[in-house]
Amino acid sequence: MESSTAHLDINRLQQALTVEAERGFVNLQGRQYLFADFLSLSLGQNLPPVWDSSDRLQAQTLSNQYAKYASLPISQRQHLVAETRRLLYDVRRREIAAASAPQLTKKPKTEILVKQATKTTSARSNSTQTGTTALKPLSLDLNLQYLEGISPKVAEKLTRLDLHTVEDVLNYYPRDHIDYARQIEIRNLNDGETVTVIGTIHRYSCFTSPKNPNLTIVEIILRDRTGQIKLNRFWAGKRYSNRGWQEQQKRLYPQGATVAASGVVKRGKYGLTLEDFDIEVLDHSQDRIESNTIGRVVPVYPLTEGISPELIRRVVIQCLPIAHKIADPIPEKLRKDYQLIGLAEAIAQVHYPDDSEKLEAAIVRLTFDKYFYRRLVSLYRRNQQKAIQFVPRSHLIEKLEAILPFQLTGAQNRSISEIRADLQGTTPMNRLVQGDVGSGKTIVAVYALLAAIESGYQAALMAPTEVLAEQHYRKIVEWFNLLYIPVELLTGSTRTAKRRETLSQLETGELPLIIGTHALIQDTVNFCRLGLAVIDEQHRFGRDQRSRLLQKGEDPHVLIMTATPIPRTLYLTNSEIEVSIIDELPPGRKPIQTTLLKPSQRKDAYELMRREIAQGRQVYIVFPLVEESDKMEDVKAAIQEREHLQSVVFPNFKIGLLHGQMTSSEKDEAINQFRRSETEILVATTVVEVGVDIPNASVMLIEHADRFGLAQLHQLRGRVGRGAAQSYCLLMSNAKSEVAQERLKVLEQSQDGFFIAERDFQLRGKGKDEGTEQSGHAGFSIEDRLSDEAKRLELYQIAREAAERLIKKDSTLESFPQLKAEFDHHYQRLQGGAIFT
Ligand code: ADP
Ligand code: MG
Repeated sequence: MESSTAHLDINRLQQALTVEAERGFVNLQGRQYLFADFLSLSLGQNLPPVWDSSDRLQAQTLSNQYAKYASLPISQRQHLVAETRRLLYDVRRREIAAASAPQLTKKPKTEILVKQATKTTSARSNSTQTGTTALKPLSLDLNLQYLEGISPKVAEKLTRLDLHTVEDVLNYYPRDHIDYARQIEIRNLNDGETVTVIGTIHRYSCFTSPKNPNLTIVEIILRDRTGQIKLNRFWAGKRYSNRGWQEQQKRLYPQGATVAASGVVKRGKYGLTLEDFDIEVLDHSQDRIESNTIGRVVPVYPLTEGISPELIRRVVIQCLPIAHKIADPIPEKLRKDYQLIGLAEAIAQVHYPDDSEKLEAAIVRLTFDKYFYRRLVSLYRRNQQKAIQFVPRSHLIEKLEAILPFQLTGAQNRSISEIRADLQGTTPMNRLVQGDVGSGKTIVAVYALLAAIESGYQAALMAPTEVLAEQHYRKIVEWFNLLYIPVELLTGSTRTAKRRETLSQLETGELPLIIGTHALIQDTVNFCRLGLAVIDEQHRFGRDQRSRLLQKGEDPHVLIMTATPIPRTLYLTNSEIEVSIIDELPPGRKPIQTTLLKPSQRKDAYELMRREIAQGRQVYIVFPLVEESDKMEDVKAAIQEREHLQSVVFPNFKIGLLHGQMTSSEKDEAINQFRRSETEILVATTVVEVGVDIPNASVMLIEHADRFGLAQLHQLRGRVGRGAAQSYCLLMSNAKSEVAQERLKVLEQSQDGFFIAERDFQLRGKGKDEGTEQSGHAGFSIEDRLSDEAKRLELYQIAREAAERLIKKDSTLESFPQLKAEFDHHYQRLQGGAIFT
């Protein structure tokens, strides 16, 4: 209690000093005392025990000088105020250090006086703030409202950035830095550089624009021995046209004063200028600069509205002295092996780095940690699970190979052997098979299904739509009949009697393989011994749906398949999933000829369709869903379009219709009619996007192509080109914007889903990538600051290896208690955090 009263005193004194400096050292009249009298009294009184004898002596001297303050010239008043602030600052720092960190002995010099005086707004809000809380010793878990100059209200604001404690602030990494560290002589300045210049004030002027009473201009001519430069700064607002303020500014920057100024160099019509500058008066040209910005590498933080960059910097600076207290959970040996700097140093350097190398080292260390813990968590989680080991009891796979009508591609073979290795491992498989549309993922999954079945386990294959589930069923049942393996289909449309029978066979274990939709995750579905779950087009499922399927067994192996390419760096650095890539199409496929069309070329499109249909081929015409909320409108549009096409354009052909508002059996009917060639044209909304495999279709016309995402267009296009015939994709669009055209051109140029995804990713900007863990603040993540992608991948590999080594050494982490604690923290956070959902 006693010490907090002492804190309060210092705080009040500092406030008085700030206001006095802000008003230009006029010896302000307070409610009770003149400024000088208040200082003289306060410093002359009995001081609390934390003040040591030299502090007391200095306080007494200052107290005596304040008695004569009124008769001193401004420059001496300024000096006196600065001295006082320095003393108070030191005392308080030591107080904090004594309470929390006895080894912190270095006395920082006083805070920047001039800066606070120039930044009138922030200084004022400081002094007029309401409800200041008594300060408390700095500690990592200290709530921010106990810091100097942070009112409960400001602290409340900071919580919007999820900043509550000192530790939160230290872990709030800057998204960029501005380098003012380079001090350059005026002669050598170049346009566009951010620099610091040290020189003397040759002329200072501050005036309100004659044209605009709201605009006040500060101009300083600064000289060093090599030349001169003009510093410009503009102040908008009535209060700056106030003469008092302008006079006070002038007094702060007397002619001949040595100053340091940081800003951006501009070379204009009238010579060199320094824009957006910050300035600080120095005692001499070698004097240490106190400012948080001038002469330093300045952090730039992700912000939200109502929080200024200065505020964050001020808070960070207050928190930094305790950064050394941050313990490093990573064992020293590991750190040495991977040449990582210590955590406390990394955190200090990531905010206010000494130089760019230190900054890079800090970013490397912090990114390493991120990858390291993520990997550790996933390894740990998987160690908890006991893998079902598949030991073949029969030879189903050999039998399948004998009946397969085609040769597997190299990429398919590679994926299959990766899967087989997983299935014999000690932890459950968690593998993604990623392959472009038509690359033949299904057969790869069939190998896995057979491996489960021949080992005496049950398997499930879940697809996102009935159309797709049925298609898988149809294909697989063909092969499995030849192998004498029963398979059933379970969807929302399965009849009750059939459903009951299927469910009971699953429960007894008679039925080794079930294929279905979401129907598989209902409570009524129980397996006897589920050993493998295969999920097709898994991005269509929620994380919850996926885990509900897995819970139907005890840590079953998991295989997921997707044609939606995930950019390499994303999956490499974000997944806890192993990835197999099928980067090769089955032989004999002709590339799909893709053409961008304007509505005026519609006739040509219809002509091509007629020709193809005449040769016995079939055609898709796809309309976009404009907006989820307008589903009905789109459906109406599709219905009307079909009517129009049927009656006017293609009266001689049969046209089917497929849209999302149809019941599943209606959909099935439409697809099956098309499959059996009973309709030549299928008008569809995006329902056909996923996986439909009708090799006889050779043309796809996509209306309003600009309304689709590139990945989606690529998926749609994949519905044709599945047979040996030449296929066509026609992208109809009347979008005139260059960006839209450029996007669509990507499809004209490439059939490579990876390339298209990467381009799409670039064109959309990095903003809303699926698959990234939303880490922390404003979507910014420390790894984004690594200078290049290769470095990021390398670091990821290293972090993975480090985590693996550690888990191998001690799978419980109990011999590394600090690491264990940190790990637990991450574990909580990432628990259940499957990345690809
Ligand atoms: P997707 O990867 O898009 O799911 P599918 O598994 O549906 O692709 O395969 C597309 C078509 O290619 C199917 O008709 C399939 O039978 C056939 N296919 C798969 N692998 C091969 C292969 N190695 N050689 C020839 N055809 C193949
Ligand atoms: Mg498929």
